[in-house]
Amino acid sequence: MKTIIGLEIHVQLATATKLFCGCSTDYQDDEPNTHCCPVCLGLPGALPRLNRKAVEYGLRVAKALDMRVLEESTFARKNYFYPDLAKAYQVTQDDKPLAVEGIVEIEDDEGHEKIIRITRAHLEEDPGRLVHVAGGSKYSLVDYNRSGIPLLEIVTEPDMRSPQEARRFLNKLRTILEYLEVFDGDREGGLRVDANISIEGSARVEVKNISSYKGVEKALTFEVTRQRNMIRRGQTVARETRHFMEGRGITTSSRGKEEAHDYRYFPDPDLGPLHVADRVADIDLPELPTARKDRFMEQYGASANHARTLTGDPRLADFYEEVAHVDPALAATWVADTLLGELNYRDMNITAVPPGHIIELLELLKIGTITDRAGVQVLRTLLDACVEGRPCETPAAIVEREGLGKTAGDEFTPIVRAVVAANPQAVEDYRSGKEGALNFLVGQVMKETRGRADPRELRKIVSESIRVDGV
Ligand code: ZN
Ligand code: MN
Repeated sequence: MKTIIGLEIHVQLATATKLFCGCSTDYQDDEPNTHCCPVCLGLPGALPRLNRKAVEYGLRVAKALDMRVLEESTFARKNYFYPDLAKAYQVTQDDKPLAVEGIVEIEDDEGHEKIIRITRAHLEEDPGRLVHVAGGSKYSLVDYNRSGIPLLEIVTEPDMRSPQEARRFLNKLRTILEYLEVFDGDREGGLRVDANISIEGSARVEVKNISSYKGVEKALTFEVTRQRNMIRRGQTVARETRHFMEGRGITTSSRGKEEAHDYRYFPDPDLGPLHVADRVADIDLPELPTARKDRFMEQYGASANHARTLTGDPRLADFYEEVAHVDPALAATWVADTLLGELNYRDMNITAVPPGHIIELLELLKIGTITDRAGVQVLRTLLDACVEGRPCETPAAIVEREGLGKTAGDEFTPIVRAVVAANPQAVEDYRSGKEGALNFLVGQVMKETRGRADPRELRKIVSESIRVDGV
C-alpha cells in the first residue's frame, strides 16, 4: 500500500513591513492590535499598495527552486467569513500565481537522491489571529497585528512517500529559505503546513494548519496508521479535512460549514497585474545548501554526513568555515558532532558561541595539550558560561583553572598503585587472561584523574604496573 503525501507550506516572508501597507511586521513582543492601519484592518475605502520587497523575496525563492515565473500574475480575492479576516476576503493569487513548476532535491528513505516537484508558489496576506481566552470564557479575542503579513504559499506535487520524506523535504526547504534570507526560522508560526495524505486507491485527507513544522511528521505518521488500519478492516477512508491536535499527537475530523469551499475568487480591482518575469535574471542567489555541501566535501574533505549537518543551517556553515583552518577534519568532528550536540542539549544557538574560543579549543586538541575527554569538559564549561550570559572564559583559561592539561604518566603512578591495591580481584582476573578486567581498572583510574589522562597511555601504565607488581 503506497503512501502519497503532498504539502502546502505557508512561509512568512521576513519583510520589514506588511504586504499591502506600511505597518511594521515586528510585532512579536508588542501588545495586540498595535501594528494596524485602515488597510490591514480592512476599513472601507482603504487602498492596498503592493510591497516591492515581498515580490523580490518571492522571486528569489522562485529562482532558487528553479521555477518558471509567469509573464503576468494577478491578485484575487478569496471570499469567506471568519473573525480573523477583517475584510471578509483574503487577497491571494489564484489562476495566475507568481511562479510554477519547481524542484527540491531530497534523499528518499533509502538515501538516494530524489526530486520533489513544486507545483506553484503564490503571494498572499496572512489573516489575523484569534486568541482563545483560558478558563472557559465565552469570548474569543482577535489580534490583527498579523493581518497582512506577507506569505508565500508553496505547493508541492504529491511526490512524498513517507512522513520521514516529508520531514526531510521541509528541512531542506527551510534551509533554502534561510540561505535566501527571506525567512526568519526562529519566529514561531513562521512556517505553517497543510498536508494532503492518502493511501493509494483511497480517498485523500487534508490535515490543516500544522503550526510547528516538527508536528508534520507526527501528524502524518498518525494519519498513515489510521488510514491503513481502516483499509485493513475493510472500512472506507472518508475524504475530509482533519485538524492536528499537537498536544495529543492525533488528528480529528473537522467537517464544518466553513469547509464547504466556495470562495468565489475574482480579480482584486484594487491591485493591477504583476509583470516581473524579466527581473529574475538580475537576481544574484547565494551559494545554496546542496552546492555548499558538495564544496565542503571537496574543499575540507568532510564526510557526506558532516557536510550535510554543517550546511543544514547557514549560520552553522559560516561558523565552521571560520574555525576550519585549524584542522578541517578535527573541526568537522568537533563542530558537527560534539558542539552541535551540546548546543541542542542546552537549547542554544550557534550565534552564542564565539568562534575564537572554538579555534583555541581546536588548537589545544590538535597539539595534544588536552585529551578529547578534557576537551568535552572545557566545551561544557564554556557553553554553560555563555548560556548564563557571563563573559566567556577562554578554553586555555579553563584548562589552566581546572587543571585539565594532559600530564606526564608519572603523576598518575600513585593513583594507579592505589587502584591496583584496592582491587585485588580485578588484578587477579587480568593476570589470568581476562582483558575486561584491565578496562575496569583503567576506568577506575580515569575516574580518579577526572579524565585528564589519555586512556590509551593509561592502559599502558596500568598493565605495566600490574606486570611489575607480579614479578
Ligand atoms: Zn497596516
Ligand atoms: Mn493559502
